[in-house]
Amino acid sequence: MKREKLVILGGGESGVGAAVLGAQKGYEVFLSDLGAIKEEYKLILQKYGLHFEELQHTESLILDATLVMKSPGIPDKAPLVIKLRERNIPVISEIEFAGRFTTAKTICITGSNGKTTTTLLTYELLKKAGLKVGLAGNVGKSFALQVAEENFDYYVIELSSFQLDGMVDFRADIAVLLNITPDHLDRYDYKMQNYTDSKMRITQNQREEDWFVYCADDPVIQQELQKRQIRAQKVPFTIEAPLQQGGWIENEKMKLNVNNNTFDMTIYELALQGKHNLYNSMAAGISGSILNLRKEGMRECLSDFQGVEHRLERFLRVHNIEFINDSKATNVNSVWYALESMQTPVIWIVGGVDKGNDYSILFDLVKEKVKAIICLGKDNQKIISTFDGMVKEIVDTKSMDEAVRAAYFLAEKGDTVILSPACASFDLFKNYEERGRQFKDAVRNL
Ligand code: ADP
Repeated sequence: MKREKLVILGGGESGVGAAVLGAQKGYEVFLSDLGAIKEEYKLILQKYGLHFEELQHTESLILDATLVMKSPGIPDKAPLVIKLRERNIPVISEIEFAGRFTTAKTICITGSNGKTTTTLLTYELLKKAGLKVGLAGNVGKSFALQVAEENFDYYVIELSSFQLDGMVDFRADIAVLLNITPDHLDRYDYKMQNYTDSKMRITQNQREEDWFVYCADDPVIQQELQKRQIRAQKVPFTIEAPLQQGGWIENEKMKLNVNNNTFDMTIYELALQGKHNLYNSMAAGISGSILNLRKEGMRECLSDFQGVEHRLERFLRVHNIEFINDSKATNVNSVWYALESMQTPVIWIVGGVDKGNDYSILFDLVKEKVKAIICLGKDNQKIISTFDGMVKEIVDTKSMDEAVRAAYFLAEKGDTVILSPACASFDLFKNYEERGRQFKDAVRNL
């Protein structure tokens, strides 16, 4: 019998994992990356004797595929992807591919903000309960590699819109949708509806026995629910008003009720503080309740969770000035939640690569809480002109050291300095992690 030819575009975490799984399942595998492949990944490919190339795409080999797995980093508009589609060669995501080879239950988490936090918290809940669970998607090891090498009963999977775009038959047992606010519009023809459709794919293929957990306070999600038939059992969560079923806040308690399985906990006990984190805790807690996890374990986990680096990470006080690293806040909406949760006057470090930001939703919070703005980017003109006159001081800086020193100079005892950039990091840093680490180093050096 002729073997199916699996071509993998992109030799990163997801691509290499899919290559290993593909070979294990009998595919003839060829992996191709237009850039350089990291040494650690080459070693894995070599260990399994897999055919690969880097720094080029050999078209004849790629167009010979019967199935293509594309890394989420490669846009649908890449010429090669267009050619594959013209030839009706299916192009899918790693999650779709790996999902075909496991019967483990999947808890899939998406949204514009809060994915990683909620995914890690949910994973901790399941692990604490003693379930055999893997962590996959945008965080942790590749889903495909785990399907190849592990034997988990559950997976908690963080899904970006790009991964969702490449999903066809994949079905989530529990789908969690945190919010939909503008992001990555450059990959969606600058049309919000295209991006929204991509996020809503989290519900596709769901059956009556599956679950759809969603934020009822999100106007875009509400609008979509009016238009669509969702087959799964719907579980809303909200911070605005008490509900009968789902998750809500009442008398300073987080309350959950899923099919008469009830849970409550005062919000002050929650490890993750701030309004946005109430949503994240509720979403994780609802998934735990659906799976009937023991309440004591859930309570412990929700109150002990360490948080995630670079997300509203309160890491140091210097002379009673608190420094918070929120480098992962790469869009305006996540900055809104960061500023909203601040209890003291704020020195706000902002800037980087603008993704078409509209800062107007921040104006009220900035007027109320921000004393000074430290712009940190190659080109800070837009931020300066947008906030001119709104705060006492705006400083233009071009390096992290300079920004942190300026912030420290302007801060007084009791203030908070927060790096919450609203922008991508690529003008001055390799990625948001490096930006966050440089921030912490600069603060430690004060
Ligand atoms: P993602 O993985 O979706 O990028 P993260 O958990 O990494 O989300 O958090 C990214 C940023 O968004 C952080 O700065 C955080 O403060 C903010 N954030 C986290 N959860 C939410 C939420 N539910 N709504 C809005 N902003 C959030």
